[in-house]
Amino acid sequence: MKTLLISSLLLVILTAKTHVATAQPAHEFPPLPYPYSALEAFIDATTMEIHYSRHHRGYFNNFVKGVEENNLGGIAIEDIFARVSELPITIRNNGGGHYNHNLFWKIMSPYGGDTGAAPKLLDAIKITFGSWESFVGKFQAAALGQFGSGWAWLSVNSQGNLFVSSTPNQDNPLMDVAGQRGTPILGLDVWEHAYYLRYQNRRADYVANFWKVVNWAEVERRYKELVK
Ligand code: MN
Repeated sequence: MKTLLISSLLLVILTAKTHVATAQPAHEFPPLPYPYSALEAFIDATTMEIHYSRHHRGYFNNFVKGVEENNLGGIAIEDIFARVSELPITIRNNGGGHYNHNLFWKIMSPYGGDTGAAPKLLDAIKITFGSWESFVGKFQAAALGQFGSGWAWLSVNSQGNLFVSSTPNQDNPLMDVAGQRGTPILGLDVWEHAYYLRYQNRRADYVANFWKVVNWAEVERRYKELVK
């Protein structure tokens, strides 16, 4: 009886220890928050399906494999990015691919496009960039100026200030390799896989249509989390 009690206690202690070691939840492949056809104003259903179920899934699977192989379990992805230059390139490419697409799906909505849903962010955008039009121009220039594959971002730096930037491949501003560091709240995928079926080489048309589906309520929520 005594042995049973002691081993039960030991089990409780061991279980508690395990919980401490895995403070960060395991990485999860997120559900798409709308049907493949929901963003037709911007992206056709076939592109959405391939982009989400094959490209993003591929990055996710390879990232999870890389996390296991490099003993990075239990570490938040933001903390991995903060020292990504010291890690194998697969972590940078596939971790970025997973994080960036996860953000991309969430900051779009079939009911998007209404900037009125982000009053606090809109004020900050006008103060930072001079006007809404000036911000849009700067963001579109970042998206069009990114040679080859990459992303355009609106981010918040450690001082709580907004900035627009672009990064190559699957890099993002959270990474220690980024020219400008911060937390992205809005991101646009400018890889050809994101637009080629409908737009072919017309990246400018793809970028212009992005504004029709931006979920400004979600971008505002992320902004407030960072500047509160
Ligand atoms: Mn993509």
